[in-house]
Amino acid sequence: MKKRFLRGMLAALCLAALLFTEAAPFTLRQDASAVTKEQIEAKKQEKKALESQKNELKSQLVTLQREKSTAVAQKANLDSQIAVIRSEIAYAEELIAEYEQLILETEAELADTQAKHEAQFELFCARVRAMEERGTVSFWSVIFHSADFSEMLAAMDFIGEIMESDQRVIDELKAMEEQLAEEQAILEDQLAEQEEVRAELSARSAELNEQVRAAQAIISELAADEAEYKKLIAEKEAAAEREQAEIQRLSREYAAQQNSAAPTKGGYIWPCSSHYVTSPLGSRYTGIKGASTNHMGIDIGRVGYSTQAVASKAGTVIISDYNRYRGNYVVVSHGSGNTTTYQHLSKRSVSVGQKVSQGQVLGITGSSGVSSGPHLHFEISENGQIVNPLKYLTNYIKGW
Ligand SMILES: [Zn+2]
Repeated sequence: MKKRFLRGMLAALCLAALLFTEAAPFTLRQDASAVTKEQIEAKKQEKKALESQKNELKSQLVTLQREKSTAVAQKANLDSQIAVIRSEIAYAEELIAEYEQLILETEAELADTQAKHEAQFELFCARVRAMEERGTVSFWSVIFHSADFSEMLAAMDFIGEIMESDQRVIDELKAMEEQLAEEQAILEDQLAEQEEVRAELSARSAELNEQVRAAQAIISELAADEAEYKKLIAEKEAAAEREQAEIQRLSREYAAQQNSAAPTKGGYIWPCSSHYVTSPLGSRYTGIKGASTNHMGIDIGRVGYSTQAVASKAGTVIISDYNRYRGNYVVVSHGSGNTTTYQHLSKRSVSVGQKVSQGQVLGITGSSGVSSGPHLHFEISENGQIVNPLKYLTNYIKGW
């Protein structure tokens, strides 16, 4: 008899221990380094500062990018100018080659004419010599001693006594030589002009190339600056994100503190629409193997499998799980050491960490776990100690 009593006590103790140890880690949690509103505010200010730094950098980047696109446009303009000048240079060079060819041809013609001229002169001289030998023209000797051909031609103008054929040939040669010299002079002028054009174009091209190099250097510099700005902005963004995460973390902690600072006693409403209590808190005989003999809460009947189990008080869900004794059950924390428990549910509709308001649906009643039929097992603990729910929920219907 005594042995059986002990075993029963032991089972009850184990069950009680099981019931408590699972909820205990959540109920008493008073942090030494409590989060303050000022701390969160300071973080928010830090984040704000980072945001404004980031925006400042972004506007600087926009200016920089504008400068860069201007530089790129300038360089493109220079490039097209250079292209035009290069084609002009090519054209000038073509003309120069043509003129050079023409000058060569003219020079050859001139040399040819001069050779003909010389031959004619030789012939003329031979004739004069023959005449002189015959003693017909004594003055030819004077003319013959002229320094050169031109001087002789001038001297002959005064004489007027010359063979007609010779005079015609000499006139023709003279005219041809003059024409050639004239043509050559014109061509040489044009050649000089074209060479001048080419020199000008080359100088302009060199100047433009210099400008292109300068523009390219500016563009490279701006691109490097741009990359640097982008990197800084990314850093600020990352820092702001970290601040945001920290703000959220601190805010959550602060909210949890505020929650734990809320009254940890009283303020409960019925956890379901039925007020029909079939089993009160305390010792009892259940007749069901495994069911608690020291009842930790109250059983509410006439709920079936479709009644909503609601949060008796606002708080945070700290357990939403299945247990072979309690079935589907939910534990809501209302602050330090203050929890409410809802057991034997057929369905749970909240998850751990979720904030629930008073009256919010946690699940649907049922008979899961160790249970003799559909009912809602409801517990309240304050300061980590089980209290009688009927102390607060006084308008119950006694069903035991
Ligand atoms: Zn119960």
